[in-house]
Amino acid sequence: MNKQNYIDNAEANLLHTYNRFSLVLDHGEGVYLYDTDGKEYLDFAAGIAVCSLGYGNEKLNQALKDQIDKLTHTSNLYYSVPTIDAAEKALKASGMDRIFFTNSGTEAIEGAIKAAKKYAYTRDGHAGHEIIAMNHSFHGRSLGALAVTGNAHYQEPFEPLMPGVRFAEYNDLASVEALINEKTCAIIMETIQGEGGIYPAEESFLTGVRKLCDEHDILLILDEIQCGMGRTGKMFAWQDYPVKPDIMTTAKALGCGVPVGAFLMTQKVADQSLCPGDHGTTYGGNPFVGAAVSAVFDIYDEMNILDHVNEVAPYLEEKLEALVAKYDCLTARRGKGFMQGLVCTLPVGKVSAKALEKGLIVITAGSDVIRMVPPLVIEKKHVDEMIEKLEMALNEVEQ
Ligand SMILES: *Cc1c(COP(=O)(O)O)cnc(C)c1O
Repeated sequence: MNKQNYIDNAEANLLHTYNRFSLVLDHGEGVYLYDTDGKEYLDFAAGIAVCSLGYGNEKLNQALKDQIDKLTHTSNLYYSVPTIDAAEKALKASGMDRIFFTNSGTEAIEGAIKAAKKYAYTRDGHAGHEIIAMNHSFHGRSLGALAVTGNAHYQEPFEPLMPGVRFAEYNDLASVEALINEKTCAIIMETIQGEGGIYPAEESFLTGVRKLCDEHDILLILDEIQCGMGRTGKMFAWQDYPVKPDIMTTAKALGCGVPVGAFLMTQKVADQSLCPGDHGTTYGGNPFVGAAVSAVFDIYDEMNILDHVNEVAPYLEEKLEALVAKYDCLTARRGKGFMQGLVCTLPVGKVSAKALEKGLIVITAGSDVIRMVPPLVIEKKHVDEMIEKLEMALNEVEQ
């Protein structure tokens, strides 16, 4: 079968919810991906911030193979050692006290919302609480997560969604404060907005929101699904700020390719929120994903991934700044560590398609941002190669 056969077959069978690039990926090695024609691509997207360790990490692959031969699934009615280990490592890395494993990011958000609602229900003795979320946020596609996603286009066809959600402006503390009332149980936001266009939270904003939460016994939920797991040079992006969330979510790079997410909370929230019967999942945290998460944390430690990000990210930022200075079509760089966006006046879909032709995978965010969320193991030489290929793409689209 050639590439076009595969694509025709896919388009005949898969529900058309994505406008896919005409690219059939076959395998990966290091920070490169190869398509079915053998063409090589430098990967600056990592499967949307998932494959932090790149491709073919022997230790991760071996851990997965070993667990497959032992036991892939039981259920949450029993304990399993890989998941016990994974929980311990995730809590140590985050400084949170309790964790619940899910199968995806959106499910982690669902759990976080339920925990916040139950906390307020236990405290007040009644339901009917409200949540404050942010415009231009993204928290997932399931109905609860969609309800806190500040994007009318994603929401509209599926209304009515979960009621009681109010939207404030990100990085505008007064807009948050104005929405607080006696029903507010949680404020949810990404520490760095991803899909919305790579906007890091300003420190004064995050500390201000934390203070409002403390004053009103409101829970702060930080969504670290995209910005977490070392991408910013801290294990979780919020650890770069003088705040701690009451509940946080993670997914994407947590399993480095194995579908897994989690929501984590402090003991205070755990004591007054979800208890037996309130929440569950068949697959969530099964031994297979437990082995993946456990191996990911070990490998991050052994490879000093955070140090590596902190060493190479300034180089990436410097090169991107130089590109912004050089090209009129690039108007700004935003981001932290290996989560970077270039604001671009050319059609960004065209730029990423042209980059593919040149052997570079980059994605977009919002309507005008070229997004880079590469594997965390990229080196300076890969940054150079990316710049070279991106320049070729920009030059051709500009013409
Ligand atoms: C990707 C993403 C989600 C949703 O995760 P899925 O695994 O796709 O359900 C939620 N929040 C943020 C910030 C994300 O980037």
